[in-house]
Amino acid sequence: MNEQNRKEVDILIVGSGAGGLLAAITAADRQADVLVIEKSDEYGGTSATSGGGIWIPNSHLAAAAGQQDSPEEAFAYIRALSTANVPDENIRAYIRWAPQMLRFVHDKTPVRYLSLPYTDYHAELPGGKLGYRTHLPVAFDGRLLGEDMNTLRSASAAASLFGLINWNFNETYALLFRPKGWLRIAAKMLARYYLDIGQRLRSKKDRCLTLGTALVGGLRVALNERKVPLWLNSPLIELLTDAGKVVGAVVKHQDKQIVILARKGVILAAGGFERNAELRAKYLRGAADPRLSGSQINNTGDSILAATAVGAATMNMQSTWSAPVFSVPGEACSRLSTIERALPGCIIVNQAGRRYLNEAASYHVVGRIMIAADEPGAGTNPSWVIFDATFRHNYPMGPVIPLIPDWLQSRGVRSTLKKAATIAALAEKIGAPPGELTSTVERFNKDALSGVDTEFNRGGPAYDRLYGDARVTPNPTLAPIIKPPFYAMPIHGGDIGTNGGLVTDEYARVLDTKGQPIAGLYACGNNAASIMGESYPGAGVTLGPAMTFGYVAARHLTGATDQT
Ligand code: FAD
Repeated sequence: MNEQNRKEVDILIVGSGAGGLLAAITAADRQADVLVIEKSDEYGGTSATSGGGIWIPNSHLAAAAGQQDSPEEAFAYIRALSTANVPDENIRAYIRWAPQMLRFVHDKTPVRYLSLPYTDYHAELPGGKLGYRTHLPVAFDGRLLGEDMNTLRSASAAASLFGLINWNFNETYALLFRPKGWLRIAAKMLARYYLDIGQRLRSKKDRCLTLGTALVGGLRVALNERKVPLWLNSPLIELLTDAGKVVGAVVKHQDKQIVILARKGVILAAGGFERNAELRAKYLRGAADPRLSGSQINNTGDSILAATAVGAATMNMQSTWSAPVFSVPGEACSRLSTIERALPGCIIVNQAGRRYLNEAASYHVVGRIMIAADEPGAGTNPSWVIFDATFRHNYPMGPVIPLIPDWLQSRGVRSTLKKAATIAALAEKIGAPPGELTSTVERFNKDALSGVDTEFNRGGPAYDRLYGDARVTPNPTLAPIIKPPFYAMPIHGGDIGTNGGLVTDEYARVLDTKGQPIAGLYACGNNAASIMGESYPGAGVTLGPAMTFGYVAARHLTGATDQT
């Protein structure tokens, strides 16, 4: 192979999500010569489209806010939720390194996080907390990216206004509940976006970066400061080994296959396999259709397959970060449903017209029940969210935007939204038995008026109330469905990525089928089986570990000891 088709670096990083970028920054800070390769024509992966939240127990930011936490409590909490095949050492490594990773991010990159009073998803379990483990990124000025603003992956449609304008946590709240002054906030958002005239002439991309785009944008600036190259349109094809050690990879770059030799090793950070229909059909319990994932389209498990080809072991491949999703015709990614299910005045029913879950539970719990409950005669794929004119006026329902008339909603929304003057007529439109749906709504309405969901305890757990409407009493997640017209939207049991994958140890080293580390091979993010097993302990448990084990992998590969 000639010199042009060959390159040598210390560390090759595959994938440019938050885990890959932070691994690259960490390694470069430790004097390694690093290259990041990215399959897509945009960098940032699903991390950029996400909320950017990270779940970090015992952070210095939580301590500064006067919050009490401890490694023991964090361990008890994760251990109670995770699967038995996740070793204690991996969980302890996370608890040990996650707060240090966050300090590193604050010290060495322009990304800034805030610790929030956002409850753990199972705060009632031992070690669970009512807040301050979830951290959200502060907005970031995309102008600092220069030309690299053009290739930053945009926020997901579910995390931006009209799929265009990035919003922060406070703006989301203002648009959702429309408190006094909300119009001023909305006008400011529109002005901020449209008055960025130079950028508007070039692109639709919003330079006010928030949530996942703020995280990835800030990391990219730190990467550029260290002059680490990031190659777009450059997928990993296969890993190269020599005497059992991974020594590099074959990569497609500028229409050629080239060999990249990695003197120290390779860190795989190329996401899960949620966009691979074949692997979904082989491993997952739910529908094989990749469009039921909210993840961006490039995560097809390439690097999991490349690693297993050199002897790597996998585990928990049946598992996803499950979620209820709205699949809007014409959109490549499904929209994650986080908030709207908990708002008062809606229910989810199966195809038999019956409620079958607590709609306000965390998306992982709801998504899993939706997948598990799918059975003949009472199908749940799709299920239907039922709401009335009051809900329609007050709140969004996935892609359905309040205050905007039905005929002005997007074509995709119009093709899926059903509407009728009575519940029985609505049932006819969705193919459910009218008598069953009518009695479901009547039963729910009775409970809603008393404030106690006798069937599924909606609004009981602390997490349910997080996204309820605090102005509605006695239960902020319950209101009757009584005002016509009535609406139904299909909702599916989908995911925001897979969370089984390569087996790794506490240093993020990939293990072979005998449990031994494969020299030179590391993995983080959804490329590796999660330390959370099949559970979702709180907001940020996918990005927190992705970044922490990216940080841990880069440190280990560059010879750091636990003390340095
Ligand atoms: P990614 O961020 O997807 O990065 C993987 C990258 O690898 C991609 O850019 C991909 O193109 C690239 N790649 C794939 N194959 C190859 C190849 N062969 N060669 C080179 N590159 C390749 N999680 C949280 O913890 N907190 C949140 O707030 C949160 N909010 C979310 C909101 C939404 C709407 C969604 C959809 C998800 C959210 N998640 C959240 C989940 C989280 O975004 C993902 O789990 C996380 O981003 C996965 O990170 P990753 O680094 O493993 O993968």
